[in-house]
Amino acid sequence: MTTLKRGSRGSEVKTLQSKLNLLADGIFGPLTEEAVREFQKSKGLTVDGVVGARTWAALGITPGKRNVDEIILHCTATPEGEEFSNAQIKQSHIARGFSDIGYHYVIGLNGEVRPGRAEAIAGAHCTGHNTRSIGVCYVGGCPVRTTPDWNKKSKDTRTPAQEAALVKLVKELRGRYPGATVHGHNEFANKACPSFNVKTWLTQVGIKQ
Ligand SMILES: [Zn+2]
Repeated sequence: MTTLKRGSRGSEVKTLQSKLNLLADGIFGPLTEEAVREFQKSKGLTVDGVVGARTWAALGITPGKRNVDEIILHCTATPEGEEFSNAQIKQSHIARGFSDIGYHYVIGLNGEVRPGRAEAIAGAHCTGHNTRSIGVCYVGGCPVRTTPDWNKKSKDTRTPAQEAALVKLVKELRGRYPGATVHGHNEFANKACPSFNVKTWLTQVGIKQ
C-alpha cells in the first residue's frame, strides 16, 4: 500500500476512508486526517496523520489480506499478436470512469506478469465481484486485426508463454487465497471474455477447484 497523507487522492484513500467509517470520496482532506490521528492515538501509534505501513497494518490492511475468494480471468479484447501495455489499459479504464487500471495482473504476450492494481485494493473488472476477487488479464482475445470485424470476434490467442504464466500465477494466487475459485469473466457477464472456457482449461492444466 502507498503512504497516504493530506492531499492524497484515489482508490487507496477510499479504502482508508471506508475503514475509518468516513464518506469515501477518495480525497484525503482535513476530516480524513483528523480521523487518522484519532485512530493512530487509539492504537498507540505515532500520531502524525500519515498512513504508512504501521497504520495500514493496524487498519487490518496488508497486501494479500483482502477477503478474496474468487480469481477472475479476462482478456484485453485486442488483436492476436499485438502487445497492449498496462498504460494503454489504464488509459482505457480511466476513460470508462475507473480511478486506475482495473486488473491486478496483466500477462503480456511474452508471458511477463505485469502488476496492475495492488492486491489489497478491490479491482474494477467484474461487476458484482470486485471486492471479493483478484482480476487477471492476458493480452489478446480477438483474432488478428486483418480479420473482418475482428473486435466483434473472440479467439483464445494465448501464447504458450502466456498460458504457462497464467498457470503459475493462478497457482500462486490460490496459495495466497486458499479456497479461492477460478472463473472466466463470461461466467458472470454476457461477454466472451476471456475467450476461452476457464472450467475446461482448469481441468486440462490440472488445477482443481
Ligand atoms: Zn473481462
